[in-house]
Amino acid sequence: MEKPHVAIVSLGGTISMGKREDVGVVPSLDADSLVSSLPELRDVADITAIPFRMVASSGLSLADLLAVRDEIGKLLDNGTDAVVLTQGTDTIEETSFLLNLTVKSDKPVVVTGAMRDPTTPGSDGQANLLAAVRVAASGLTKGLGTVVVMNDDIHHSKYVKKTHTSNPAAFSSFPLGPLGWVSEDRVRIALKPAANRIIIDVDSKSRDREVLMFTVLLGDSGKLVKHVVDMGYDGIVLEAMGAGHVFPSIVDDLEELASRIPVVLASRTRNGEVLSKTYAFHGSESDLLKRGLISAGALNPLKARILLYLLLRAGKSMEEIRSIFENWI
Ligand code: ASP
Repeated sequence: MEKPHVAIVSLGGTISMGKREDVGVVPSLDADSLVSSLPELRDVADITAIPFRMVASSGLSLADLLAVRDEIGKLLDNGTDAVVLTQGTDTIEETSFLLNLTVKSDKPVVVTGAMRDPTTPGSDGQANLLAAVRVAASGLTKGLGTVVVMNDDIHHSKYVKKTHTSNPAAFSSFPLGPLGWVSEDRVRIALKPAANRIIIDVDSKSRDREVLMFTVLLGDSGKLVKHVVDMGYDGIVLEAMGAGHVFPSIVDDLEELASRIPVVLASRTRNGEVLSKTYAFHGSESDLLKRGLISAGALNPLKARILLYLLLRAGKSMEEIRSIFENWI
């Protein structure tokens, strides 16, 4: 039987860090090396290796990500059945979400990486790559959007987050769970997202935008907020306290800012939904929403920033942006 055609696109990250320098590892293994060191991949799929970038994922830009999105789009439109992207785990929760929102094809897109580099005992890169290719080749995530495969779990990019600096089980979709798992050569999808995927039409040649993420801190003056527009930001995501709260002295500046650019209210707890009608003090969630801030709902600030960036880049108006955030699950 003909095997599915899977492209492995490499960006770098710990999965690619095979070279040791004085004090640590650096990216050095591209998609060709990853594939040639793991012959089992070819039992699962007909593989094409595409070296794309060779950086730690902290060195990726949003322009890089839109270029990867374009490459993935081309591959999937031209006979490739599924794509696996290998990259650093530090930013997977943002990159996979960006791909979920911008890749137009319904074919599987699977992102993976490693928590332990290939020179370390117990390195997880090869197991993760094989599992990711199994998921991609199975076709079972077709139509579900971009997924992240780590540690044999299949997470949806809308919910996945990195929760630990070094543990191989660092990825979690809490308060939800993974969509499924890989066991031996079997791929299981136990759950599917209830909401249809939203695709944002972003041209990689469109004018770039910048979205600031600002953490609201105990005892801070918040004076940066006055300068956000002058500094050239097109939008801001607030990592507010608790259920969406800020200190009183910043409230008027935020109201003024929200009349000029989208100001999205998210929670620095990074779990749970921003509330809307529980607290009524000066600087509470209900106060801020009345003053024109947009609720991030259940989206954590990192994902809210990616969503806002893409909506701005796609030329959406303040009201369109508000409506997409308000209806998000
Ligand atoms: N610093 C690495 C990166 O994100 C960490 C990793 O890949 O796990 O590129």
